Amino acid sequence: MAETGSERKVELVIVGGGPAGLTAGLYAKRTELDTVLLERGLPGGQLLNTELIDDYPGLPEIDGRELAELMTKHAQKFGLEIQTAAVQAIKKLENGDFRVTTEGDDVYIARAVILTAGGTPNKLEVPGEVEYSGRGVSYCAICDGAFFKGETIAVAGGGDAATEEADFLTRYVDKLYLIHRRDELRAQKILQNRVFENPKIEIIWDTVVEEVLGDEKGMNGLRLRNVRTDEESRLDATGLFVFIGFLPNTGLLEDHAEHDAGGYLITDRDMRTSIPGLFVAGDVRAQLTRQITTAVGDATTAVIAAEKYLTELKEAEATATA
Ligand code: NAP
Repeated sequence: MAETGSERKVELVIVGGGPAGLTAGLYAKRTELDTVLLERGLPGGQLLNTELIDDYPGLPEIDGRELAELMTKHAQKFGLEIQTAAVQAIKKLENGDFRVTTEGDDVYIARAVILTAGGTPNKLEVPGEVEYSGRGVSYCAICDGAFFKGETIAVAGGGDAATEEADFLTRYVDKLYLIHRRDELRAQKILQNRVFENPKIEIIWDTVVEEVLGDEKGMNGLRLRNVRTDEESRLDATGLFVFIGFLPNTGLLEDHAEHDAGGYLITDRDMRTSIPGLFVAGDVRAQLTRQITTAVGDATTAVIAAEKYLTELKEAEATATA
């Protein structure tokens, strides 16, 4: 929009420009829906933080930023309009439309919304974590595990994600240290037992990561602190996977939508949420795994379902005015 504070009507607003949002945009324009995609930064989402992707079919090895660019151009080829705008609130109105408000106070009135705003892995917030992100520090075992073949790495966390992913990572690495801040794990017993029985995993109890260490080649160690004795030590490791929770970006919704205990939005098989006209895809959705492939698949379903919803709305309105 040219000026701030303006209001515009569209059929569909897509919130978020990661793989799910860009796929939704591509299919929406291909289906000729009047669509706008709102993204606060550069399109690409978490792809922009991923150095190498080797699990997207057909592209054996691709830089995350390159894939983001390709996905953006592909959606734009079908005419997708991408606006740089941080969405602040999504509200369902009494007439069934949605009011989507951006930080600049621009308002989009949409008949349907696809929310693909993703989520954010919780960070340790220690020195070196940002600096070595993508050069040792990772938040995704399936994405990055294969880059640590034969190496010694660490995993931070003690919940289901940390234990499940630690066990998964031992298919690649020689040695894995699970660093947990307490003396017992939070994870389900079955996942705990897998970790206890895995000969490659050693648990470092009552310990937190104080700093990620490294040089120009990347991460090469961690500074640890025992929380009981305050004693500090150095652990040699070339990788650190952080699994200390994940926050889905659902705070934009002003209305209550059904979600699970972790705050992820629950959908039916057509990506419909408990709010009619609101569809979700990608990391913000309650699901088994969070992959690029699942995000693009779910986004495709969301658009087809949204198109069906919009057609039914038009038919109902035509019948009412006939
Ligand atoms: P989670 O259950 O909240 O566990 C987070 C872990 O990180 C906890 O062990 C916590 O320690 C630790 N932690 C939190 N902040 C920390 C910090 N600043 N420094 C060090 N450690 C910190 O999160 P999650 O494991 O990501 O799981 C999220 C949800 O997804 C859960 O509901 C989980 O059940 C579900 N999930 C399920 C499966 C499965 O069923 N297979 C797999 C993955 C995830 P404390 O224990 O001391 O609090």
